[in-house]
Amino acid sequence: MINELLVSLVSRVLGEGKMTARGNRAFHCPLCNHHKPKLEINFTDNKKGHHPWHCWVCNEKGKYLNTLFKKVKALPEHFSELKSLVKTGYQVKDVEVIKYDLKLPEEFIPITNNSKNIIGRQAWVYLKNRGITIEDVEKYNIGYCEYGRYSKMVIIPSYDKNGQLNYYTGRSFEKDPYIKYKNPESSRNIIPNEHLINWNLPLVICEGMFDAIAIKRNAIPLLGKNIQSELMKKIVTSTIEKIYIALDTDAMKQAIRFAEEFINEGKEVYLIDLKEKDPSEMGFYDFTKLIQNTFPLTSYQLMERKLQSI
Ligand SMILES: [Zn+2]
Repeated sequence: MINELLVSLVSRVLGEGKMTARGNRAFHCPLCNHHKPKLEINFTDNKKGHHPWHCWVCNEKGKYLNTLFKKVKALPEHFSELKSLVKTGYQVKDVEVIKYDLKLPEEFIPITNNSKNIIGRQAWVYLKNRGITIEDVEKYNIGYCEYGRYSKMVIIPSYDKNGQLNYYTGRSFEKDPYIKYKNPESSRNIIPNEHLINWNLPLVICEGMFDAIAIKRNAIPLLGKNIQSELMKKIVTSTIEKIYIALDTDAMKQAIRFAEEFINEGKEVYLIDLKEKDPSEMGFYDFTKLIQNTFPLTSYQLMERKLQSI
């Protein structure tokens, strides 16, 4: 349950924040003054009165809002208000909760790097071997299931721009799984993890969630090889100027089709030549190098590529 009174207090101290995910809100960080809201605070009430806060830019963090208030030199009245709100959790008013059809699997457990549970450890080791860091796990709220429909699968959720769950994918972490991937019966016509996208920066279009995680910045997975209409609409109507397309070689036809559509909309398109490896196999470093060595696609090159792909 989100403590809305606390949200209101913190907003008076730090300025309006915006909702991200899991009871978190992001604020402009007064400690490093980054231009984007990178200071995340959790407003979920818990027994211990913890409200973890963390700035993704300057890395200042703490468990209690008290320490944050000290750092930003909040006024005495703010401190007393904080004291009353944090200690007496029962004062919290029930707030309206927006209901969505989609929920994470009941068996979902967040992944940590120090799980005491064997399956939990297997899940983390699987991710680690794929080059995923514990920061990635937190950023994407990655979890796993021990039982149920998604038994022995890691779950990567997707949230919309307001931080509401709009999709998730399950990927088995067993050695030779009977089924590798499982998804909910829910529309894919969404913009995956839009809360992490800055529509003013170059966008990278990739295939899977793991690719997006590996690319780290402003990457949108197609959750397949096609661009869904919602995403297409958003890209075309956005002010985004540069688009990098990083699809597997077996999706070259689609990639060329998207490239043509974007070029016709006045965007600058970069067709990334992935050769054998996908971004999640290459890792952040090699992929970034590849991106830096790719030049904008000209109409002539596009035509050439079209002829080649027939
Ligand atoms: Zn900061």
